Amino acid sequence: MKFPGLFLASAIAGFASVGHADVAPVLVIHGGAGVVRHDMTPAREKAIRAAMTRSLRDGYAVLKAGKSAVDAVAAALVVLEDDPNFNAGKGAVFTHGGSNELDAAIMDGDTLRAGAVAGVQHVKNPILLARAVMDKTSYVMLSGTGAEEFAKQQGITLVDPSYFRTEQRWQQLQKALKEDAAKHPHADEETAKHFGTVGAVALDAQGRLAAGTSTGGVNDKRWGRIGDSPIIGAGTYANSDCAVSGTGWGEFYMRAVAAYEICMKVTQMRVPLKRAAAVVINQEIPSMGGSGGAIALDAQGQISIPFNTDVMYRGWVGADGTPHVAIYGDEDDGTAEFPAPAPADSAGEP
Ligand code: ASP
Repeated sequence: MKFPGLFLASAIAGFASVGHADVAPVLVIHGGAGVVRHDMTPAREKAIRAAMTRSLRDGYAVLKAGKSAVDAVAAALVVLEDDPNFNAGKGAVFTHGGSNELDAAIMDGDTLRAGAVAGVQHVKNPILLARAVMDKTSYVMLSGTGAEEFAKQQGITLVDPSYFRTEQRWQQLQKALKEDAAKHPHADEETAKHFGTVGAVALDAQGRLAAGTSTGGVNDKRWGRIGDSPIIGAGTYANSDCAVSGTGWGEFYMRAVAAYEICMKVTQMRVPLKRAAAVVINQEIPSMGGSGGAIALDAQGQISIPFNTDVMYRGWVGADGTPHVAIYGDEDDGTAEFPAPAPADSAGEP
């Protein structure tokens, strides 16, 4: 930085100056989409807002310290994995057989490196194991007992499976088992099985993007089912233009390659982020029969949080350093303050 005055102006505006670029760091998180609104109590809502705020604060502190977008994503997600109100880490949903099987992925948009884990049952923070896969191996995804053997080698915290158990999730499984037995699914049933997954996308002071997602998957899942969250390109993706973490009915996100699809519209077709994310989440996925939402962030710090469910836990923090958290669909989340610039031409429109 050549001029002290400029440095001061940047600092006041909340910008950081590290490396080659002056970028205002941004962090966006989600705590899942699809919760049925009448299931929410005031106490639960308060706890969720508090945890989301803590996650934003911890992740943003990492960005303000000049660390990487990958570091911020991991820091933000550890807070949500440790909180029993989310379907990730402690508080994960149960499988049909009564266990908790966790999936997570992280991707560094700057290097296109990625790490993921699937079906782990003893790892306290699956996002940290996904990161170790990215940083310490030549692989992208590890699963089950092999992943846990690697976790042990890396000194990642392992816990007894009883750590993940919460009464609320156990009751949700009992309800689903009864519905399975009665064999009369109702309209809310599929949506009600997908909730509470956590995700984060970040832009650091050097202009690097990253994305991460962590989940227990879907309530009552069986046969080793793995969803979109740990699949690079489906539930999690980042490159140098765009970072996305999705949440919703994972089978549709996999079939739509949803996160990659959003980023390719941005990278290759030059579609503005908000439009790209809205087309995939509000048109392509519902037209296939799926539902859910996503958080998306571009290299200019534009934020997009489309969702087609009643509720999506979501939050962001930008240059003003204030965490913004919203839950309901009709609640203003403040992202309209980040309008996408008009496209230069319409040739790339989907
Ligand atoms: N997408 C996740 C899955 O299908 C669930 C969720 O987002 O709540 O595993």
